[in-house]
Amino acid sequence: MTNLAPSGLDQTRIDFTAPYALSIDGKLVRTSTTFDVLNPANNQLLAQAPAGTPEHMEAAIDAAKRAFRSWSELRWEARAAYLSDYANALDANKEELIALLTLEQGKPRHSMATEEVEGAIFWVRETAKRQLPVEQVEETDAHVVEVHRTPLGVVGAITPWNFPVFLGLWKVAPCLITGNTMVMKPSPYTPLCTLRFGEIAQRVLPPGVFNVVSGGNELGQQLTAHPDIAKISFTGSTATGKLVMASSATNLKRLTLELGGNDAAIVLADADWQSVIPKLFWAAFGNSGQWCIAPKRLYVHSSIHAEFVKAFVEFARDKKVGDGMSPETDLGPIQNRMQYAKLLDLFADVGKNGYKVPLGGMIDESLAGNFVPVTIVDNPPDSSRIVREEPFGPILPILSFDDVDEVVARANDSPFGLGGSVWGKDRNAAIAVAKRLETGTVWVNEIHALGVDIPFGGHKESGIGVESGREGLAEFTNSKTYTFAK
Ligand code: NAD
Repeated sequence: MTNLAPSGLDQTRIDFTAPYALSIDGKLVRTSTTFDVLNPANNQLLAQAPAGTPEHMEAAIDAAKRAFRSWSELRWEARAAYLSDYANALDANKEELIALLTLEQGKPRHSMATEEVEGAIFWVRETAKRQLPVEQVEETDAHVVEVHRTPLGVVGAITPWNFPVFLGLWKVAPCLITGNTMVMKPSPYTPLCTLRFGEIAQRVLPPGVFNVVSGGNELGQQLTAHPDIAKISFTGSTATGKLVMASSATNLKRLTLELGGNDAAIVLADADWQSVIPKLFWAAFGNSGQWCIAPKRLYVHSSIHAEFVKAFVEFARDKKVGDGMSPETDLGPIQNRMQYAKLLDLFADVGKNGYKVPLGGMIDESLAGNFVPVTIVDNPPDSSRIVREEPFGPILPILSFDDVDEVVARANDSPFGLGGSVWGKDRNAAIAVAKRLETGTVWVNEIHALGVDIPFGGHKESGIGVESGREGLAEFTNSKTYTFAK
């Protein structure tokens, strides 16, 4: 274990060439075994990450538990000041984090990686300014009733590989500002940025407040079953979310589950569809489609469907798939071989069934990286796998519909209910459609508007609870009612 230098903004720049280590109780902890992290642009070894053991996880939970007392007793403003220091420290290491994110996740450095890291830092800074004031809910001659929000304890955070920085810090900021402490377990596919932002945290936060333990899925299981964990904040697949929920029952943990999605985008007959195409393209294909809220089914009114598909294909045709470190790259590789293999299978299903593919369709397996071409499938049946499943890759079905009742029924015919969007000139008509979608978020004539004050979460099998907004902050607390006799 290495003791870190005392906190101070001048000492917040870390050494990105140093070996990776777990962050436990304010210290960097090296492990006796490591696991390989590959660069998805060439499948070569990028780095070795520490393989945390159950004992490391136990030590991290114990540290977070010990730190909880003093952290939760700090004044809100004091915690806000720490978070603001953390945002500054992240900012001081921003360029290295952006490059590392591209190397481990694949997304283009000049666009999405920069946006992800800058967006995450902004989130930490802004969340530090939010509060959960005491609410007086009743006053009579006899008494006053107040509702206070109290921290839960130690929160276990489990994150996926598609947005490791953003989704990670999205959990850290509201968790810490509300007075909880945290142990985070990143995806084994993308642990590196998380280990580094954990390391940065040790420079500015008190020991034990934020710990990071990388390793296999079993560490996630250990967190979900652990009696000293008060809440699990999980982002990942619906299948794993169900396991997390079952395992968390042991001590009735609070849960926020941000799970899979199969978002529908509905382009109505009167939409200004030429201007909609770039927005929908980037929403669907940004991060190479590895996005929970990517539109994954695009429904276009039959009166404009043929023209729309043609123009969409034209817009998509010249987008460059390649190594995210190259400034010319628009879309990076698929993050890992497991997901790449799933896409090979899905592409094979599209081919086998003879669906119309006006763009892409063939994955060149001879390439060293996990590169998958932008692929559009024209009007496959609703029962097809490409419509029913969450592909999590750069492939999009564009479906045709005739009337609003029909498209609403088809959009809602999914176990998922994360997001959706409706596009049309008649704003009221578009809003009427939006109201009928069974999803946690619906965007009308815009897409992916997210914000520190905007609650975000899924309906149906897309999740439980929300992140962000007042509601998202409140989910890191218990409601505590006081009644005071006068
Ligand atoms: P995943 O479910 O395979 O893994 C997520 C995390 O869970 C990883 O850290 C993994 O190590 C851990 N884990 C695996 N098994 C576990 C277990 N039994 N107990 C506890 N933890 C366990 O998901 P993924 O493939 O990394 O991410 C892609 C999925 O995440 C997609 O379905 C996507 O839609 C979803 N996602 C949802 C949101 C959202 O906000 N709703 C955001 C991003 C991604």
